[in-house]
Amino acid sequence: MAQINDNFQKLKASYLFSDIAKRVNAFTEANPDKRVIKMGIGDVTEPLPEACVRAFHEAIDEMGTRTGFHGYGPEQGYPFLREAIAVNEYQSRGCDIGASEIFVSDGSKCDSGNIQEIFARDSRVAVPDPVYPVYVDTNVMAGRTGPNRDGRYEGLVYLECNAGNGYIPSPPDRDVDLVYLCFPNNPTGACATRQQLQEWVDFARDREAIILFDAAYQSFIRNPDIPRSIFELEGARDCAIEFRSFSKNAGFTGTRCAFTVVPENLTAKSASGEEVSVHKLWNRRHSTKFNGVSYPVQKAAAAIYSPEGKTQVQGLIDFYMENAKVIVKTLGELGFSCVGGINAPYVWVKTDQPSWEFFDRLLNEAAIVCTPGAGFGTCGEGHFRLSAFNSRENVELAMERIRKVFA
Ligand code: PLP
Repeated sequence: MAQINDNFQKLKASYLFSDIAKRVNAFTEANPDKRVIKMGIGDVTEPLPEACVRAFHEAIDEMGTRTGFHGYGPEQGYPFLREAIAVNEYQSRGCDIGASEIFVSDGSKCDSGNIQEIFARDSRVAVPDPVYPVYVDTNVMAGRTGPNRDGRYEGLVYLECNAGNGYIPSPPDRDVDLVYLCFPNNPTGACATRQQLQEWVDFARDREAIILFDAAYQSFIRNPDIPRSIFELEGARDCAIEFRSFSKNAGFTGTRCAFTVVPENLTAKSASGEEVSVHKLWNRRHSTKFNGVSYPVQKAAAAIYSPEGKTQVQGLIDFYMENAKVIVKTLGELGFSCVGGINAPYVWVKTDQPSWEFFDRLLNEAAIVCTPGAGFGTCGEGHFRLSAFNSRENVELAMERIRKVFA
């Protein structure tokens, strides 16, 4: 009989959002007339920018003609999109990143999950706690951990993020090989300063570690002093890989387009001690297992960088950040202590109740769904996350209900 990959058996049985869905379904069945407002999941609500829709249509029309038809494209992405990304996201901000270092993909969930494949099985891995679960689960699947005990997997280095350190972890006092960092952070919405990020880059260079930097929410940064890319930091080209996504800024969660930046000079060691190009390895992996993002989707993504695309994307970001402002203001007035919501679309709120208990209270008393912090890791206990991805009407109604319950 075929044998499974036993590492999958180590994964915690139920996934956070399915637990939430179960409780919400039970509530709706018992209270069919109550309108539930979902402030939990980080999916966008607003339609695609017009510039993207137009480019999408035009590309589909092209595909219907003999001369404009496109079959398999380059696995790494079409040059028009890679070039637009390099110029607009990096070179315009003074980062030394070229088009050939950009790998277009169908999502940064896949990229941040797949990247670990090119590193040794016995790599020492550090993850933040609380954490975007993909980083942890993919390393568990790959066999880099022991079993889960009391909410933590043996073998991982957990970087604690709590009120004491402003939810920004410092480099650990031991060697690690791979470090996942995510800023603006999901779930906490916290954002590392230039100095804090420089400490991480210096640590990584010193210990010959690689930073896997998830910047899926970078476009929500409003403070011009906060870096949007790890490559704004000195030395990052020698020690970092960056994940970006069009999901949250341009509403591509259902359209699917993202990219990963792997500097051409980035190296890691083979078992025999030889220095190997990480860029070449990722290119090999990407072109073996991935067949490119569709031409119309890449055209739609490139339209984000047109003058009207830029304005429309900014409009979307401003809209969600206004929601975040309303949430932060209400919670602050009610005496909750929270982070995020200023340079990020998530608001991370401290409570004096266990987070699932708070989740149930919010659901039962206000018909609002939040994400319980404990679902993101041990350090998430006693917290909950509210997402600004919603209609204004829902956010205002939710805040009115929260006021009634907690005033
Ligand atoms: N990275 C983080 C931190 C996220 O929160 C998410 C989605 O919620 C993703 C990546 C996934 O992005 P994509 O839609 O590009 O797969």
